[in-house]
Amino acid sequence: MTILAIDLGTTNSACAVWRDNDVVFIPNKLGEFLTPSVVGIDDKGEILVGQGAKERLITHPNMTVAVFKRLMGTSHKVAIHKTSFTAVELSSLVIKSLKEDAEAFLNSTIDEAVISVPAYFNDNQRYATKKAGELAGLRVGRLINEPTAAAMAYGLHEKKEGIFVIVDLGGGTLDVTVLEFFEGVMQVHASAGDNYLGGEDFVEAMVDAALKAHGLKRADMTPEETHQLSMKMETAKRRISGPEQLVSYTVAGTSYSSKIDTEWFNRTATPLLIRIQKPVESAVRDAGLSLTEIDEVVLVGGATRLSVVRSAVGRIFKKLPACTIDPDFAIVKGGAVQAGLVQKSAALDDLVLTDVCPFTLGVDAVDEVNGQFVEVFSPIIERNTTVPVSRVSRYYTVQDNQTEIVTRVFQGEHRKPSKNVYLGSLRSSVPRNKAHQEAIDVRFSYDMNGILDVDVTVVSTGRTYNKVIKNSPASLSDDEFNKSLERLQKLKFHPRESERNRALMARGERLFETALGEERSAIAALISGFEAVLNRQNAMEISKAQEEFEQALEQFDLEEWH
Ligand code: ADP
Ligand code: MG
Repeated sequence: MTILAIDLGTTNSACAVWRDNDVVFIPNKLGEFLTPSVVGIDDKGEILVGQGAKERLITHPNMTVAVFKRLMGTSHKVAIHKTSFTAVELSSLVIKSLKEDAEAFLNSTIDEAVISVPAYFNDNQRYATKKAGELAGLRVGRLINEPTAAAMAYGLHEKKEGIFVIVDLGGGTLDVTVLEFFEGVMQVHASAGDNYLGGEDFVEAMVDAALKAHGLKRADMTPEETHQLSMKMETAKRRISGPEQLVSYTVAGTSYSSKIDTEWFNRTATPLLIRIQKPVESAVRDAGLSLTEIDEVVLVGGATRLSVVRSAVGRIFKKLPACTIDPDFAIVKGGAVQAGLVQKSAALDDLVLTDVCPFTLGVDAVDEVNGQFVEVFSPIIERNTTVPVSRVSRYYTVQDNQTEIVTRVFQGEHRKPSKNVYLGSLRSSVPRNKAHQEAIDVRFSYDMNGILDVDVTVVSTGRTYNKVIKNSPASLSDDEFNKSLERLQKLKFHPRESERNRALMARGERLFETALGEERSAIAALISGFEAVLNRQNAMEISKAQEEFEQALEQFDLEEWH
C-alpha cells in the first residue's frame, strides 16, 4: 500500500511518497517537482492542469483559473469558458493530475492520500479538501497541518530537540506554528496565521507602486496588461537581490517602464512585512511562551526566499532563521513522513505526532443578565488545545416546561455566536420540568483530521444523540458530491504524452503576445517550426525539437531584462 502525500498549495502543489525508508519526490509530466495549482480548458475543450495552464493565464484569461484554494469551503463558483466549477472541483483536478503523475512514475495505482492544509483552515475548508481528494479517486486518510508537516520534515532530519516556530509564507497564505520536539514526540503548542498574506501580495504591491509612480491606476489597464505586468514583476521579484532591473509594460496601449532595485523593493514590501509580526506574536503568546524562549525559527514556503522576509522574521525573534530544507518541499516531505507513519513503517516507529485544534469550538447558550436573556458563545474546546481531544460541558433548560434543547455548534473566537462560523445543530428532547431542572451534557470530540463529533446526553433520561458535523453550509451533500463526480468524469483530459508540447506552445504564444517587432517575428518563426515538427509525428525528431524550442524560448524570457 502506497499513500500519496500531497501539498495542495495556493500557488504550487507537490507530491511525494514514503518508500524504502525515505521520501521520494514525484516529478510531473514535465519532469518538474512543483506543479502550479492552475486549471484551464484548451481550445479543444480538454482540461489542462499545471504549467501548461499557467502559461495560458495571460493569453486565455477566461479559460484559466488560479488561486482557487482561497475559495475552499465556500460555495462560490468560478467559470472557465462556459462551465462553472467550485473550488473543490478545481482542487480535485489538480489532485487528479498529481495522482496520475505518481501512478506513472511509480508504475502502480494509488488510492489513498495524506493532504496538507493551512493550520488556519476551519472545518468547512478541511471537509472541502477531503472531498477534493475523494473526487479525484483518493481516500483521504489524514489531513495534516502544513506547518506541522514542515516541522516533521525538519525535526526528523535534524534530530534536534527544543521549541520551534515554523513561519510559512507561500503564495497566498501565512502560517505560524509553535511546536516542541522532545524525546521523539512532536507537540504542536499553538498556531496562528493570515489567510490573505503571501508572495503574490508582494507582486501586487510592486505593480501598484510602479503604476503610482507614473500617476496611473489599475483601472486604466486591460486585464491582459495587468496580467503581463504582474508576470514581469513576479520575475523581477525573484531577481530582486541582483542588479537594478528595468521593467517595461503597457498601460492602455502606451509604453512605460520602471526601474526596480532592492531598495525600492524593500520600501514597497514594508507594509506587508509588518503584517508578519501579529500572527507570530499571537501564536507565541497562545503557546504561553515569550519570543526569547524559542530555540529555532524555521522558514517554509517560496516567499521566504526573499531576503527581506528572512530579515523581517529574524528581527522579530532577534535570531537568524533556519532554512536548511528547501522551502518549496518541506511540507510535502513532512507529508510523506506522515504517510510513512500511516504505512506503519518501522523506521518511524518512535515518532509520535500531536496537533492542535486551530479555532475554539463551542455552542450557543443563553445567559440571563438582569432578567433579560442574551445569547452567548460558550466554548467547549478552546483554540490551540492539543488534539485528539474530548471535552464535555453541561447546559440547563431556561424555561418551564421546555421539551427540547437545540444545540447549535459554532467555531470561532467571538463572544456572539452569530459572529462565528456556524457548523450545524442537534436537537434533543428533555422531559417537561421547571426551568434549570433538566440538563444535557454536550461532548465534543475533535480528531487529528479536524473533524468534530458531537454527543449529547440528556442527564435525567440518559438518552443520547450524536452528530458528526457534515451539513455545514458549504460542505457537499452526497447528492452534490455524486453530481460533481459525474460532471468531472465527463471532462476530457489532455493526453499525458503531449503535455510538454502543449506547455511549450503555450509559453511560445505568451511570449509572442508580449513581444514586439523583430522579437515577435522571431518567436513566430520558432512556433511555426515547432508546430511543423509536431505535425510530422516523429518521436525522435519531436524530442530533439523540444529541447531546441525550449532553449530558444528561454532566451526570449531572459531578454526582457536588459
Ligand atoms: P503555496 O504554498 O501558497 O502554493 P509556495 O510555497 O509554492 O506557495 O510559494 C509560492 C510563492 O513563492 C510565490 O508567490 C512565488 O512568487 C514565491 N517565490 C518562489 N520562488 C521565489 C524566489 N526565488 N524569490 C522570491 N519569491 C519566490
Ligand atoms: Mg504552501
